[in-house]
Amino acid sequence: MNYVAPLRDMRFNLHELFDVSAHCERLGNGLDRELIDGVLEEAARYTGEVIAPLNRNSDEQGVTLENGEVTTPEGFVEAYRQYVDNGWASMTGPTEYGGQGFPQMVACNFHEMLMAASLSFRIYSGLTEGAVLALYKHGSDALKNAYLEKLVSGRWSGTMCLTEPQAGTDLALLRTKAEPQADGSYRVTGSKIFISGGEHDMSENIVHLVLARLPDAPAGVKGISLLLVPKFIANADGTPGERNALTCGAIEHKMGIKGAATCVMNFDGATGWIVGEPNQGLACMFTMMNDARFQVGLQGLGIAEQAYQGALAYARERLQSRALTGAAQPDKPADPIIVHPDVRRMLLTQKTLVEGSRMLAAYCARELDLEHGHPDAGARKAAGKRAALLIPIVKSFFTDMGQEVASLGVQVYGGHGYIREWGMEQLMRDSRITQLYEGTNGIQALDYIRRKLMGDGGAELRAIQDEFLGLCDELGALSDLVGPVRARLNQWRELTDEVLARVAQDPQEIGAVSVDFLQYSSYVLLAGLWLKAAGRARQALEAGSEEAPFYEAKLHSARFYVRRVLPRASSHREALLGGADCLMAMPEAQFAF
Ligand SMILES: Cc1cc2nc3c(=O)[nH]c(=O)nc-3n(C[C@H](O)[C@H](O)[C@H](O)COP(=O)(O)OP(=O)(O)OC[C@H]3O[C@@H](n4cnc5c(N)ncnc54)[C@H](O)[C@@H]3O)c2cc1C
Repeated sequence: MNYVAPLRDMRFNLHELFDVSAHCERLGNGLDRELIDGVLEEAARYTGEVIAPLNRNSDEQGVTLENGEVTTPEGFVEAYRQYVDNGWASMTGPTEYGGQGFPQMVACNFHEMLMAASLSFRIYSGLTEGAVLALYKHGSDALKNAYLEKLVSGRWSGTMCLTEPQAGTDLALLRTKAEPQADGSYRVTGSKIFISGGEHDMSENIVHLVLARLPDAPAGVKGISLLLVPKFIANADGTPGERNALTCGAIEHKMGIKGAATCVMNFDGATGWIVGEPNQGLACMFTMMNDARFQVGLQGLGIAEQAYQGALAYARERLQSRALTGAAQPDKPADPIIVHPDVRRMLLTQKTLVEGSRMLAAYCARELDLEHGHPDAGARKAAGKRAALLIPIVKSFFTDMGQEVASLGVQVYGGHGYIREWGMEQLMRDSRITQLYEGTNGIQALDYIRRKLMGDGGAELRAIQDEFLGLCDELGALSDLVGPVRARLNQWRELTDEVLARVAQDPQEIGAVSVDFLQYSSYVLLAGLWLKAAGRARQALEAGSEEAPFYEAKLHSARFYVRRVLPRASSHREALLGGADCLMAMPEAQFAF
């Protein structure tokens, strides 16, 4: 399937909505507009010409495991070599370990392109960046010196080993052991399942970050430590040395992302080193998980963009029936299906969810960058709080949206979407996992309510609501948009108070409101961002921009979103106000007769 990176839309966000140049200046990274645009153009070429052509075959060929070695689909090794040699791997890495220090606000566009071009390919490198972050923040100097430079360059890749057969969401149940040795290392023993990129042939070494228990560890999540366990133990000169006692026991056969190796990893007394303090592993892992959750959100966004591109091209070409108002193209046997209101409903739903989410990705990326790179400690803390609130939204809303947009893509193609030929069904299968891993979307919603909303009594959420209410005041002239957006923002404030009151009275309400309140919040947040986009579009049109069609499309899209998508918030509100008792009242025995 062809993939053409949506560069114009990305530049709109970067330069016109979020002023990336000022952002870079604040971060002191020396990047300017010309460099950023040049890098993204080259990224578009690499993902469109090198990666996207591999995606279909990777689905058909899959991965194979023989004698403990995984072979990836044809072309992945060569494409990964380019990924490393051309510096894509090191884009966000810390500069003191050879990275280029690009901010997330820029890099998230490249990562979206990678996800769109081939999610399976991206999975092999996606967790390395999180591993770099965790090691950089929590690792000892010795570990950093031995492993970071190679990980940052991409010559070595990273994994995240949490899940065990009996411990999925509930990590308190994990059993993998780490026994201290006289030389300061640990012997790691246990079995992990579902490990993405646990074994493969693309990088020279694989560095596993493994959650395990020390012998005297307290029970539950307070007794979990983080261990670095490499496939090959690094030599003093930084080359891969002795083979460690770990093997890939099996690979999973799954619904989608068939080109990505999902491995059972057996650690048989493997040598590892602790990262951070004993029993503080979960806190260290959270550094990695926040990045990973943001990345998974981008997976949903990338796949959604690809589904939209396919659906739009098809809707312009497929001739079926005449327009309701009479033939639109009388010289043809029928009109292209894009003339039909229902097809336009599907395309505009795709477009506005995708572009709205892309704005939210940039908004969240800005906070992530400031959290790590603002010169002022207070500003770093404030940005960290804002990012933490947004992460579960980005992870779960984008991935639910990705699945919906892929499904709409299938619908636009009709029966041709359901057969393999056009690639739409692959997008639906590939995107389904994104709602599950890195914490299911149900767990993201619990995190949103329990840790983020209840954690500060709703203060951060109110700050976001105030920010967008302020925007409504600024953009009063766009009255057909400002009116409904302001009304929703005010309703969101009231609903926030109502939710906080309910969860304080009854703990069952936490789980009962969580998904609907997260969805409600997401739709209103996107409305605020669409208003921002409309404000900028109107300004550009008033200034006589030569790109009038681009800005007019933004205004049309904003209107569609506010009138036809935002009303979904109402049903989420009503559902959550339906309360917990109707979920919990029925005895378990009555679920089936
Ligand atoms: C292709 C693939 C790749 C993966 N990659 C990795 C990886 O690289 N590293 C890794 O460590 N893991 C990985 N995983 C594992 C993944 O993160 C887990 O599958 C996921 O976290 C859910 O755990 P589980 O499958 O055991 O489901 P369970 O935890 O058994 O959950 C089952 C259902 O119950 C719900 N549920 C559970 N607890 C609660 C609760 N308290 N409240 C409300 N609902 C609840 C869940 O939302 C879900 O709907 C991968 C999985 C797959 C399929």
